[in-house]
Amino acid sequence: MDRPSWAPDDIDLDKPTAARAYDYLLGGAHNFAADREMIRAAMSFMPDLALQAQANRAFLRRAVQYLVDVGVRQFLDIGSGIPTRGNVHEIAQRAAPDARVVYVDIDPVAVSHGRHFLAGNPHTYVLQEDVRNPTDIVKHPDVTDLLDFERPIGLLMVALLHVVPDADDPYGIVAHLRDELSPGSHIVIGHGTHDSRPEEVAKLTAISRQTPTAMSTRTREDVVRFFDGFELVDPGVVWAPLWRPDSPEDVPEDPGRSGNYVGVGRLG
Ligand code: SAM
Repeated sequence: MDRPSWAPDDIDLDKPTAARAYDYLLGGAHNFAADREMIRAAMSFMPDLALQAQANRAFLRRAVQYLVDVGVRQFLDIGSGIPTRGNVHEIAQRAAPDARVVYVDIDPVAVSHGRHFLAGNPHTYVLQEDVRNPTDIVKHPDVTDLLDFERPIGLLMVALLHVVPDADDPYGIVAHLRDELSPGSHIVIGHGTHDSRPEEVAKLTAISRQTPTAMSTRTREDVVRFFDGFELVDPGVVWAPLWRPDSPEDVPEDPGRSGNYVGVGRLG
C-alpha cells in the first residue's frame, strides 16, 4: 500500500491504533485497513459504536463551549486525536480569536496530521507526548510559550483515561496536572465504562488489545474520583448525552448506551 504523506515512516500500517480507529468511526479519512477491520469486528456485537463516538464528540463540543462561556481562553487537550470536525480551537477561537490551544497525543498520525491541519494558526501547538509523562507536557517550552499556567486553563482528557490502566497511576497523573493549574481552571473528562453494557464492553476491551493502548474501563464511582480537588459543575458525572444537552430532544431514550461517563470540574 502507498504510504500517504500524513503517515510517518516509522508507523506500522498493519497494526490498528485508537486514534485512527476513532477517526474511522467519526467518518474521517486518516485510517488504514487494519483500523477499519478492527472497528467492523467491534460493530458486529456493538452496532451503535459510531453513535457512542458521536455522543462523546458532542459532549466535548458542549463542554468547550461552556468553558468559553465562563471565560476560559486557554486549553490543554490531552489525547486530542486526529483533527476532525468541531475541534477545540475551532470552537474556542470562534468565540475568542486569541484563544490558545495545545493539543497532545501519543499517536504519530494524530500529531503529523494535526501539525499540517494547524499550520498557519499561531495560537495552537501540537505536541507528541504520553500523558503518563505529565511533567514533560506542562514543562515543555513550546507549551509554556503558549499557555500561561498562572491563568485559568481548560484541561481536556476526553476518551483518554480509559486507556490508562491502574498500574500506570491515572489518578496520580490527573492530580499532578491539577496541581499545575491555577484557580478558575477546569477539567473535562469523558470516560468509557462497563456499567451499562458489561458483556459487550468486555469484548470491546479484548479487541482493543490489538492497539498499543488497550482499554481499562471504570465504574461511575471510579470516574468521580478523577475529580478529587475540583468542584463538579452541574449536572455532575453523567452519561454523555445528559451533560447540558442543547435540547431535550438530543437525549436518547437510554443514555446509558452511550457507554461514556462525562463531567466538568472547576478548581476553586
Ligand atoms: N479526545 C478526543 C475525543 O474525545 O474526541 C479523541 C479521543 S480518542 C478515542 C483517544 C486518543 O487518546 C487517541 O488519539 C490516542 O492516540 C490518544 N492516547 C492514547 N493513549 C495516550 C497516552 N498515553 N498519551 C496521550 N495520548 C494518548
